[in-house]
Amino acid sequence: MARPQEERPRKSVMDLDFSAEDLAFQAEARRFLAEAFPKDLREKQDRGEDFSKDDIVRWHKILAQKGWVAPSWPTQYGGTGWTPTQKYIWSEEQARADVLAIPPFGLSMLAPVLYTFGTEAQKQRFLPRIYNADDWWCQGYSEPGAGSDLASLKTKAERIAGDDGREYYLVNGQKTWTTLAQYADWGFFLVRTDPNAKPQAGISFLLIDMKSPGVTVRPIITLEGGHEVNDVFLDNVKVPVENRIYEENQGWTCAKALLQHERSGIAGVARSKRNLEKLRGMARTERSDTGGSLIDDAFFRRKLAELEIDLTALEFTELRTLAGESSGQGPGPESSILKIKGTEIQQRLTELALEAAGHYGAPHLLGLPHNQAAIGPFDARGAAGEYFNTRKTSIYGGSNEIQRNIIAKMVLGL
Ligand SMILES: Cc1cc2nc3c(=O)[nH]c(=O)nc-3n(C[C@H](O)[C@H](O)[C@H](O)COP(=O)(O)OP(=O)(O)OC[C@H]3O[C@@H](n4cnc5c(N)ncnc54)[C@H](O)[C@@H]3O)c2cc1C
Repeated sequence: MARPQEERPRKSVMDLDFSAEDLAFQAEARRFLAEAFPKDLREKQDRGEDFSKDDIVRWHKILAQKGWVAPSWPTQYGGTGWTPTQKYIWSEEQARADVLAIPPFGLSMLAPVLYTFGTEAQKQRFLPRIYNADDWWCQGYSEPGAGSDLASLKTKAERIAGDDGREYYLVNGQKTWTTLAQYADWGFFLVRTDPNAKPQAGISFLLIDMKSPGVTVRPIITLEGGHEVNDVFLDNVKVPVENRIYEENQGWTCAKALLQHERSGIAGVARSKRNLEKLRGMARTERSDTGGSLIDDAFFRRKLAELEIDLTALEFTELRTLAGESSGQGPGPESSILKIKGTEIQQRLTELALEAAGHYGAPHLLGLPHNQAAIGPFDARGAAGEYFNTRKTSIYGGSNEIQRNIIAKMVLGL
């Protein structure tokens, strides 16, 4: 029997019409991005160079000074209090202006854990420094034997009394795939504090100063020749007990909450829209096998159209999540849908870009040296590297196969 109207659970309402205020905000955001993004960084980008840590921190600080670096945080800690539509406009405008993306580790992954589970002292100590990019954070979850099956992690943390009368954890183990740990001042780590408990019950969430004695970071070079990920070795690292977030052995609760934020952030809809436009531009200048312009090739057009349709569908799913977040619902297991579809689209975009770039992409493959100015369309230069690098997106943040398992269990109830 259908429930009476008033008993039905309320759904979050999504209003996508831009009001006069939204349009004014859009104009303000567009103006700000055009004026504030440093010229030398734009030139670097135009030359196809990678951004350094200093570049990223500089842009982060400019956004922080404007008060716009952490729109999703609660306003008491520096959030903007924007409506879902304004947040949507902001991410659209950033992608449109093609400004560099701030890494998510502190701002979008650790911060929600801190303001949800941290003590007042921990919030006071770490949130302002994350906001202002005073600390660079990395994520120490995965281990050589613990990726998809994260709860089997072995890095051990034992309580010891320090000579100074304070209590510490003595941490020993190895983390792997730790993104940009070479830049990190701090890391959030999952460690085993009770080896006898059930796997998920014996884990704690620790904040570790990466300059502590016993922390070693070793590079892993990826397929396209980049240094993005690392092994991190922890050898008798002393971590004060007050650096633990939430209860001892209850770290899995924080770990799961963080992963849901990580997954919804991976979708990257606005950037994919921007990349689709770039791809369309390249297809206009490149020729197809049949001699005409690639954009007029029926097969290529069909692939572009299919991508655009999927991207539009994903955009609406993301907007529903945003609307839910603003009415107090955290991103739930549905964030797995965003992760799967978003990363598949990113990969398909790089596949089509490589197809469009053809041999113009080749000299830059694996950073091969070249003594002549590049020929061909500008966006072809990075196409091979982007193609290889983007293979990672269906693996990190929990592989897409694992996301399908989560949807089957938590969303479909199978
Ligand atoms: C570029 C990059 C950056 C990363 N950055 C970080 C980081 O900063 N910090 C961090 O902690 N980790 C990071 N990771 C690690 C990432 O989270 C793991 O790689 C991921 O969780 C998969 O684990 P694994 O590599 O051990 O693969 P495995 O778990 O060994 O899986 C191997 C394959 O088996 C499949 N599989 C495994 N179990 C199942 C199952 N139950 N059902 C169906 N299929 C299954 C997987 O989908 C995968 O295809 C990064 C990874 C990459 C590639």
